[in-house]
Amino acid sequence: MAAEVLAEAGCAVTVYDRMPSVGRKLLMAGRGGLNLTHSEPLDRFLPRYGAAAARLGPFIEAFPPQALIAWAEGLGQPTFVGSSGRMFPKALKASPLLRAWLGRLRALGVEVRSRHDWSGWDAEGRLRFQTAQGGVSAQPDAAVLALGGASWPKLGSTGAWAGLLANDGVAVSPLQPANAGFDVAWSDLVRDRFEGQPLKGVALTFGRVRVRGEAMVTHHGLEGGAIYALSAALREAIAKDGAARLWIDLRPDARVEELTAKLAQQPPDQSAANRLRKAVRLTPLETNLLREAHGKDLPADPAALAAAIKGAPLQLVGVRPIDRAISTAGGVAFSAVDEDLMLAARPGVFIAGEMLDWEAPTGGYLLQASFATGAAAARGVLKRLKAGVLN
Ligand SMILES: Cc1cc2nc3c(=O)[nH]c(=O)nc-3n(C[C@H](O)[C@H](O)[C@H](O)COP(=O)(O)OP(=O)(O)OC[C@H]3O[C@@H](n4cnc5c(N)ncnc54)[C@H](O)[C@@H]3O)c2cc1C
Repeated sequence: MAAEVLAEAGCAVTVYDRMPSVGRKLLMAGRGGLNLTHSEPLDRFLPRYGAAAARLGPFIEAFPPQALIAWAEGLGQPTFVGSSGRMFPKALKASPLLRAWLGRLRALGVEVRSRHDWSGWDAEGRLRFQTAQGGVSAQPDAAVLALGGASWPKLGSTGAWAGLLANDGVAVSPLQPANAGFDVAWSDLVRDRFEGQPLKGVALTFGRVRVRGEAMVTHHGLEGGAIYALSAALREAIAKDGAARLWIDLRPDARVEELTAKLAQQPPDQSAANRLRKAVRLTPLETNLLREAHGKDLPADPAALAAAIKGAPLQLVGVRPIDRAISTAGGVAFSAVDEDLMLAARPGVFIAGEMLDWEAPTGGYLLQASFATGAAAARGVLKRLKAGVLN
């Protein structure tokens, strides 16, 4: 996005990427339908960025969801609003968008140099790249670093820049998994029988935050949209206390009294599993989840059983590694960049995208902030060039 804004303003732009081709993580995001952004109003949108909302706000206001959607449509990708307010291209994938975008950039004269691994600055302050043919240097008038986070490193973003920038005196918060799965010490029964099965329409509560959605049982624990929405708070609690207790409400639309009445109608000599299935249609996964949470012998008393369905405590004992997380928390501190996203420690070098220290749940907030900060960094470059400051 930075390249596009700069090239449109008449700059000669070169994009360097360490991979054989660009946009691999965008293509991966496309596997899930490419949730570009969200249709909610900005006063609900911006708080999704938590502590970073104040700094990201101006960038997103300058390049809001409507601008991103207009951009995608301008590249021949009609979009739609999904049932949850999330916005997607109708193609539900990234490849046609990326193809059209690279075509536009080529037409604007942007040059892409792949297999160029940025490795810092040389003694003369030039950008240094490692290539199969050896090291090369470049000295542009300005540079935008948009090297991504550290999740899915095989797609190119390894987070290796964190050490390079920290050595250069740039404040970098530790890179951590965001929108990641969590470990649960499942019994063999749950792991073997239910791995890969979703818990649909549940409500998850951690602390005072309750979210509705879906979670998936994995070999190691749980993942999925509702888990990701709580992942920042869960991650912090696990770092502090070693574990976090998540409460699962398996029937969020039913009051405990309704469930109690339904369960009380079942003959008392039936097994708990049968009562749960017949009275409240609990699936085998849900019944076994109750056993994981409350112990093998579920209460016989209908009111106690109903309460167990409304609040099943599950102990989360770890965060899954960053290499399979959807995104990355931490990164270049906002205190290290000015309001144009330029590094104080390296004038003329701007930072954009997931490299910056923000996180947000899934829902289109990740791409929106990445695009918006890319455009903002480019405007920062233009401002500097117009002022006649060259590196
Ligand atoms: C499975 C998955 C699904 C996702 N789905 C969505 C979604 O639906 N909606 C959403 O909003 N977000 C989604 N995301 C997140 C989104 O893809 C990222 O937030 C976004 O791509 C970040 O953009 P970026 O430009 O900052 O970094 P990236 O897209 O990671 O790009 C960084 C680029 O820098 C290159 N690079 C890194 N280091 C170097 C170096 N030293 N030298 C040269 N090049 C380097 C990399 O090769 C890469 O091409 C998803 C992520 C994953 C993993």
